Amino acid sequence: MTTDKQFKRAARELAERDGISYTAARRRLAATPEPDVSASLTPDLAAAETGQEPTPPRIYPVTRTVCATECDGTTHPGALCRPWRPEDSKHVRYEVRRAAQLPNGRAGEICHRFEPPAQPYSNNFFARDATWLLALVYAMLTDQRPELRPGRAELRQAVDADDQAAVDVVMEPLDRAAARLLTKVPERWWGEVKPQLQEYADFVDTDDREPLTWQEADDRHAVGRLVDQWRRAWTESRNYNGYMEAPGVLWLAPKGWLDDLLVEQHGGHGDGARVRLTDGRPAIVYAAEWSEAGAPVAYRIRELEPGRHGNIGKLVPSFTSDELVSRDQVAGELNDVA
Ligand SMILES: [Zn+2]
Repeated sequence: MTTDKQFKRAARELAERDGISYTAARRRLAATPEPDVSASLTPDLAAAETGQEPTPPRIYPVTRTVCATECDGTTHPGALCRPWRPEDSKHVRYEVRRAAQLPNGRAGEICHRFEPPAQPYSNNFFARDATWLLALVYAMLTDQRPELRPGRAELRQAVDADDQAAVDVVMEPLDRAAARLLTKVPERWWGEVKPQLQEYADFVDTDDREPLTWQEADDRHAVGRLVDQWRRAWTESRNYNGYMEAPGVLWLAPKGWLDDLLVEQHGGHGDGARVRLTDGRPAIVYAAEWSEAGAPVAYRIRELEPGRHGNIGKLVPSFTSDELVSRDQVAGELNDVA
């Protein structure tokens, strides 16, 4: 029902109750200010029993143009603010806007940049599927640690300048926190990271904070979808071929993307780099450990050993070796043909 219809009905009821004309009732209603939304209303018993809201929903006008960053609402009386969002910047590249949009856009962009495209008949589309996991991690980190949220003004400036590198700089604290949280070590994933995400999922489901703006309500909806995806991932289900689908998600993948992204910005050895250690052993890097700032402080490596089967003459990663070495123990990149 529109406000106009509600208004007419209220006028009709008032006219009937007070025995005045419809026009007089309309005039009187228009003169009475609407009750303050924040004023607490005691719901009458009937409404409380049926679970109805005490007042009908109200429509709030929102300003049509995007507000300036420091807008306090005085320039558009009677309308709510419309803070800038990445999709409001026109005439910039799609990937720049996407890299600035949290949580889903940025996760998609990082995956697009660092996950190699799927080859025909290969299985690596499973890694692309983990994009939602990265988005959930972004959502959790920005929710629990507001200091990691990128500043709206800086982000807007970077997007308006159509500068992908600047967007990455603004997002760096968040990316770094995500890279430090995610892991490729099974014990850490199952013992710490997964329970933490599970706890966040439970929190989102019981979260009854009132959203203050419609953008916030939108964002909550996106996070809710991610949590649904999280729950689906851990539920056994039958796929369309009739087989049981193994529950889970390829949780190692986003760690590799974030390592590559931060290595691009700060140097170091990315995912899959072949290096020689100071003691002469060849090795392959499979994860980086990050501190508060700068290049990686340590690497998780696997030793490279001569292939013995169909890969004679090549160095292949050992399945059993798994080591954490500090960055001083890495002498440099290995110049061999993989
Ligand atoms: Zn405003």
